[in-house]
This record gives sequence, C-alpha cells and structure tokens, in this order.
Amino acid sequence: MVKTPLLTKEGLGVVFKQVLIMKTDWLIVGAGFTGSVLAERIASQLGQTVILVEQRQHLGGNAYDYYDDHGVLVHQYGPHIFHTNAQYIWDYLAQFTEWRSYYHRVLAVINGKTVPVPFNLNSLEALLPPHYAAKLAQQLIEQYGFDVKVPILKIRDTAKGEDLKWLVEYIYENVFLHYTVKQWGLKPDELSPSVTARVPIYISRDDRYFQDKFQGLPKFGYTKLFQRLLNHPKIKLLLNTRYQEVAEDIHYQRLIFTGPIDEFFNYLHGELPYRSLAFKYLHTEQDYCQTVATINYPNEYAYTRTTEFKHLTGQRVYGSTYIEEYPQVYRRGENIAYYPIPKDEYRAWYRKYELEAEKLQKSVLFAGRLADYQYYNMDQAVARALSLFNKELILKN
Ligand code: FAD
Ligand code: UDP
Repeated sequence: MVKTPLLTKEGLGVVFKQVLIMKTDWLIVGAGFTGSVLAERIASQLGQTVILVEQRQHLGGNAYDYYDDHGVLVHQYGPHIFHTNAQYIWDYLAQFTEWRSYYHRVLAVINGKTVPVPFNLNSLEALLPPHYAAKLAQQLIEQYGFDVKVPILKIRDTAKGEDLKWLVEYIYENVFLHYTVKQWGLKPDELSPSVTARVPIYISRDDRYFQDKFQGLPKFGYTKLFQRLLNHPKIKLLLNTRYQEVAEDIHYQRLIFTGPIDEFFNYLHGELPYRSLAFKYLHTEQDYCQTVATINYPNEYAYTRTTEFKHLTGQRVYGSTYIEEYPQVYRRGENIAYYPIPKDEYRAWYRKYELEAEKLQKSVLFAGRLADYQYYNMDQAVARALSLFNKELILKN
C-alpha cells in the first residue's frame, strides 16, 4: 500500500488517497470473448501475469447468462447461439465447456403466417398458392441452382423474368425492408450489403438459421465457460472496474483494449455511431410459449423478434422466460453500444481511430467487436483473439 498525492477537483490542495499499486505483465480491458481468450492464452501459453479489468459487475461481455428469478437460464444481452465452421475454434472452447448440440430455427410472421427464415423453398410454399410456388421454385433453381444462398440485394439486381422479379420484391418488402429499418433506422441498401447477406435467400429445404459445421451452446451456460476460461493463477479479474479509473494504479508492460476505440481516444475524432437495444423480459407459466426459439416480426410491433430461452438451453424447468428486442438509437451513458453500424462512411470514420492506434506502435493492442468496429459473431471474436495472440504476442515475447 502506498500513498499518492491527489489534487481534488475543488482545488483544496493535495490530499492523500490509499492506492494499492498493482503490477502485471499485461493489462487487458474487457472480459468478453476477446479479452478473456487473450488473457487465457497469455497466462497459459506465455506464463505471464494478466490483470483483466471489466467495468460491469460480471464477466462474459455480451454473452453473459444467469438464472432469473424463475430459475430459467437467460442471456442478459440478447440470445447468443454459437456457430462456426472452424474446427480449431470449436476445439479451443471445448477445453472449457461441453457443448449442447443445438440448431437454431427462426420463423417470421408474414401476412399472418409463420414461415422459416432465412427465406427458403418451404417459406415460398407456406406463403403462396401451390401451383405458383412450384413455378417460382423451379425458376429459382434454374437461375441460381439448388442449395445456393443468394443475398437479397444481389438477387434484386440479378433476378430475371417477371415472376421472379415479383417474388424478389415481395421478399424484400415483407422480410427485409421493415425489419432492417426497425433494427438499424436505415434501409438495406443504406448499410453494407454484408448485413442483409447474413440472412440470405436460401434455395433449399433446410430450415436452420445457420448451416455452420459446428453449432450449439455451452452445456452449462456461457458464464460457466468464462469462469473456467479465466480460472488460472496468473489471471486476476477485477470486476466493477473501469480502465480509465485504474490505469494509473496498475503498472503494466503492455495493454490490450477491447472496449470502444473512440472511447479510448477520448472521442478525438467524434463519437462513432452504434446501435443499441432494449430488452423486455417476460415470463409465462406455460412450459413453452412458442414452437421455435425465435420468432421474427419484420412488419408488426416495435420489437424485431422474441426469443424463448428454454429452446436454446434445453433446460427443464417449470414455466418459461422469453424476451422482446427493441432497437434503440445509441446514446452514450444512457444505453449500451451493442452494434457497430456497418456502413462505408462509418468504416472510413473508424479508420481515423485506427490511425491513432497505429501511432502507438503496438504499445496498445486493440481487438474485439467494439475496438475493431466490426460486426463480429462470437466465433469471429475468438478467431480475432487467437490470431492476435499467434501473430503479435508469441513472436514478440
Ligand atoms: P463484448 O462482449 O462487448 O465485451 C467487451 C467488454 O469490455 C464488455 O464486457 C464491456 O463492459 C468491457 N469494457 C468496455 N469498455 C471498458 C472500459 N473502459 N473499462 C472496462 N471494461 C470495459 N454472436 C454469435 O456468435 N451468435 C449470436 O447468436 C449472437 N447474438 C447476439 C445478440 C445480440 C443482441 C448482440 C448485441 C450480439 C450478439 N452476438 C452474437 C455477438 C457477440 O455478442 C459478440 O461477438 C461478442 O460479444 C464479442 O465479444 P467482445 O469481447 O469483442 O465484446
Ligand atoms: N434481417 C431482416 N429480416 C429478418 C432477419 C434479418 O431484414 O427476418 C436483416 C436485418 O437487417 C438484420 C440482418 O438481416 O439486422 C442480420 O440479421 P441477424 O439475425 O444476423 O442479426 P443479429 O442476430 O446479429 O442481430
């Protein structure tokens, strides 16, 4: 314990506060997937010490889950389904969890009917008269092939023939347009095409939301996974700790920052745009209240989708908890920056911060959904952390 001089705001002079100076090889900011995986690698592979600071009162970042008052395992920041094509990511995380096999299914309510999303041949048949649906299905297969995914913005540009053009506009209007405006406050063509390409038209009969080789949820939840990931004598986790408030009290060799990059540079180039969400949790005495985990409402209501957690977790418990997701304008200090907004103009803006990061010559490393300003899924956040570790940390240590 040492005493350091501290000038109070009121300028009353020098006072003393008791500060515990901590020493560490690495200071990592943010205990989400990016920061936690890096902490684990540094501790277990390099044998170096890590202090991991997290401003929230829990670990796990946006993947955090907990048991609610009804004993239902719920995700605090919206439903998280793990999916990846990369065996090495699946195997890496498997060191810290068993997996529950789970294939995500989503239905969208369109004109009063519930149909599979991504929109596929089954959705077509559910919505249109059989004869017409068969004709359109045949045309889709002839033009694009079977078992092929075509993003909506691409199919809008390329569909040939009156019937297909009509179908494409029908899908655009009923599945994408209003959902996207609700979710982002922007139309599909005002965003990077990669956004709507996440949920392409799928010319197939496969009703699963993702086709990745590996899909599932941590058998005992994400929080347990993180607890095991960080359970290493060389890792010290400080919750309720904002980096900016402790930076001077921790003596470190190197720093990794996984929070918002604009915040790190004190908004030198202005605040980057993000999108936020509000979640409404509801509970029912019923065993289940919907037939699949998620139901999308592209055209009705202020919320985009409802998700019932028991479908994801397979938990057997009395009653059921589900959430509605309400997209929100992001306001710093009032709500959470959940999504970077994928748009060329904002990417260019982010690059100004990237240049600031480069000036630091790798004395600070930036990675993660908010530090890279990238719409990463969980597997991509893990991949980013592992590749940073392999490229930058192993070679330089
Ligand atoms: P985060 O999880 O955001 O972690 C960053 C951490 O840093 C946070 O805990 C934050 O509190 C902390 N922090 C920030 N600044 C500071 C500071 N100054 N001091 C201290 N701590 C700080 N991905 C999927 O693969 N499948 C899904 O189904 C899925 N669903 C999603 C649903 C929603 C609603 C959202 C928002 C995201 C979803 N994702 C999903 C994406 C997933 O959440 C991210 O890929 C993942 O959380 C990224 O991890 P990260 O560590 O980069 O960031
Ligand atoms: N989308 C849509 N209608 C749907 C589902 C998705 O328009 O029924 C669009 C929307 O723009 C959304 C994007 O596709 O933001 C990506 O959807 P995804 O389910 O991947 O979003 P996330 O789970 O990341 O919030």
